[in-house]
Amino acid sequence: MRLQDKVIIVTGSAGAGIGQTSARRFAEEGAKVVVSDTHQKRTKEASEMIRDDFGVESIGVLCDVTNQEHVDNLVAATLEKFGRIDGLMNNAGINVLNECVDITDEQWDLVFDVCIKGTFRCVRAVLPAMIKQESGSIVSLSSTAGLEGAPNQCHYAAAKAGVVAFSKSVGNEVAKHGIRLNAIAPGLIMNPFLERIYPKEQLEGYLETIPLPRKGEPKDIANTALFLMSDEGYYLTGQTLCVSGGSWMVS
Ligand code: NAD
Repeated sequence: MRLQDKVIIVTGSAGAGIGQTSARRFAEEGAKVVVSDTHQKRTKEASEMIRDDFGVESIGVLCDVTNQEHVDNLVAATLEKFGRIDGLMNNAGINVLNECVDITDEQWDLVFDVCIKGTFRCVRAVLPAMIKQESGSIVSLSSTAGLEGAPNQCHYAAAKAGVVAFSKSVGNEVAKHGIRLNAIAPGLIMNPFLERIYPKEQLEGYLETIPLPRKGEPKDIANTALFLMSDEGYYLTGQTLCVSGGSWMVS
């Protein structure tokens, strides 16, 4: 029970990917989890499942991270229900594949609004409670694209690089309050959507380039986030952990 009674918000956690897997992993370790996402019904159902499966308290709060009122409401609902916030996982993310010459202003702005400004909005909103408590752990999703660059997704790569610099900058500001900010840079992590859209040969070709002999799964990121959220990760801040089967050793 490495997160016993810790109150943790996870954005974008009603889907079938990293967010929901992490929320469930935190609950399994005793956390009180706030599920949030853009779909009211799925958000409610995901938090109900967490309550049923793990016997912990959980609420589901609608939150589009591009909407400041939603973010403020997410924090207010968490404080009203639980009285504190120990962790925030900035998981909500979006990508629109396109070459630079074809990216529209709308596509660029959407990716930045969700991936980096959404992270900023959520961090800014939880910090007053964490500063008052003199503790907190914030884990934000970057990407190997943000460290290495990636064709057909320059806006996404730039936003995810921003998450790294953002976490270091704010981490430096709030370390004196015992608040830690770290990022996780996943490589390709399969989820039902990617399984459907990735041509089999392309996936197999990609996997051959990865040193470790299996594809990445949401639980790999959930376990890393668990460590960073827990007291075991206390002496880490401003770090970006690359969870990619060792892809960075060969690229
Ligand atoms: P996913 O699509 O399963 O999860 C993303 C979630 O974010 C969804 O539940 C979606 O509803 C939610 N979301 C989208 N826009 C939102 C908004 N405006 N406000 C709130 N929620 C919103 O994707 P995933 O693959 O699990 O990715 C999770 C995170 O990890 C993302 O930040 C993604 O960029 C990052 N990441 C994923 C991979 C990968 O290979 N899967 C690799 C690197 C980084």
